[in-house]
Amino acid sequence: MKAILEQLGIDKVNFGACGDDFFKPNGAELVSLNPATGEPIASVIQANRADYAKVVDDAARAFEKWRDVPAPKRGEIVRQIGDALRAKKEPLAALVSLEMGKVKSEGLGEVQEMIDICDFAVGLSRQLYGLAMHSERPGHRMYEQWHPLGVVGIISAFNFPIAVWSWNSAIAAVCGDSMVWKPSSDTPLTAVAVQKIIHPILEKNGCKGVMGLVVGKGSEVGDALINDPRIPLISATGSCDLGVKVAQACAPRYARMILELGGNNAIVVLDDADLDLATRAILFGAIGTAGQRCTTTRRLIMQKGIAQKLTDRLLAAYKQIRIGDPLDANTNMGPLVNKGGIEEMMAGLEKVKAQGGEILCGGKRVDRPGFFVEPTLVKAKPEMPIVSEETFAPILYLLECDNVEDGIRINNMVPQGLSSAIFTRNLLAAEAFLSARGSDCGIANVNIGTSGAEIGGAFGGEKSTGGGREAGSDSWKQYMRRQTCTLNYSKELPLAQGIKFGD
Ligand code: NAD
Repeated sequence: MKAILEQLGIDKVNFGACGDDFFKPNGAELVSLNPATGEPIASVIQANRADYAKVVDDAARAFEKWRDVPAPKRGEIVRQIGDALRAKKEPLAALVSLEMGKVKSEGLGEVQEMIDICDFAVGLSRQLYGLAMHSERPGHRMYEQWHPLGVVGIISAFNFPIAVWSWNSAIAAVCGDSMVWKPSSDTPLTAVAVQKIIHPILEKNGCKGVMGLVVGKGSEVGDALINDPRIPLISATGSCDLGVKVAQACAPRYARMILELGGNNAIVVLDDADLDLATRAILFGAIGTAGQRCTTTRRLIMQKGIAQKLTDRLLAAYKQIRIGDPLDANTNMGPLVNKGGIEEMMAGLEKVKAQGGEILCGGKRVDRPGFFVEPTLVKAKPEMPIVSEETFAPILYLLECDNVEDGIRINNMVPQGLSSAIFTRNLLAAEAFLSARGSDCGIANVNIGTSGAEIGGAFGGEKSTGGGREAGSDSWKQYMRRQTCTLNYSKELPLAQGIKFGD
């Protein structure tokens, strides 16, 4: 542990605020625990409202310079950030595992995502295209252009403690925005480590303050951020409840939002599916990150013909899952992030029993230090209220369907609409699932699971998942303001729609 922290410049006590520079904030000390042992790793001095205001001041000042830097030059700085992340990939991934509890290969994947989005953003910095339109008026030219928006507020959840920041920050940076990041209080050290990696690069390139950090309580620093009139865009990742708070704060000032909220993701497996493929995808989807991904597979909708066979396979596979230290290469599943995670899971399972569900395997806390639980399979019915909730733990509900239409109906029954998948070798069924009457989710896959998206696509979901999109495709447009320009190079002043006025 000591070596990991040293390589990242993490001290016993760290400053949780950085605007133009790191500074000692005035909030309480926050001790970050290792969820695999329950022991402290190191601590962070949190920011209070006044410290927050200083970081935003710095970001607002930095924006005024940053918006004038040509986008490809901004891209060049993001390239340097990507290289710095490459150089620290190993220790940073290890710190993600240590502090959040995901297994090391997933920690490495998280840092790789950061590197990938930096690469994407570098290319994007030369492709912030606007359209040119043919004007209906003679001697006129019409086109649209994209300008930077301002200071972006980034709120991230514990389960992707640093990747979510990078999806936002790499894109926002090439778009010419500055930003302030409020990470989860469960994972403050990874945020400080990232800030320490990027700060020298910003300093070297004369753009300190463009990427600020405030570690602080949601109720104090978070509230200040979402209600701040200087912030035109809040990109918030977290629970559906958080989304409501952000929406209520942003609406009165017409601020934009990118909401990346809870998921309740299903895999439909039809009778003709390749069950080997499906089983592997279900295992990674349900157990990966100990069921704490927004895209975790929470519902398995099996066509009746293969339901028992697939259930038996899963029961056998669940017995083989190696639970333990996330930094041990043999571990499949690490701990939940904190004690609250265990309590939430146990409360969810009580509801399962009360509502007539049957726990087929797992369902208990593991008797060892840290916050470990058993991966759990539950025979359930789609109508049970608990099945419509996102319990952020490795619980998989086993449901049955009659055919593809019934599978789609059950897939779409829940309030959330993030990720979905179907396993089938039938082209007609696959296309039905992807059609307008198919899955209502932001992500719909065929013969791959619900989790583990690539950064090239726009990531996010519908309904109570919030409707936001991050990362690839044209998500960048949300970080910029569009301006439609009409330029008259004639000596006349014709009005649109042929309107005559005083002629
Ligand atoms: P959470 O909602 O408890 O916290 C998320 C963030 O919001 C934290 O940084 C927290 O401090 C902050 N926050 C809390 N109250 C706030 C307030 N009043 N103002 C501003 N910020 C405030 O979520 P969590 O437990 O950290 O993460 C798990 C949740 O996140 C799950 O629901 C999961 O599905 C969701 N998630 C969604 C996505 C996605 O892309 N859709 C990705 C990751 C996680």
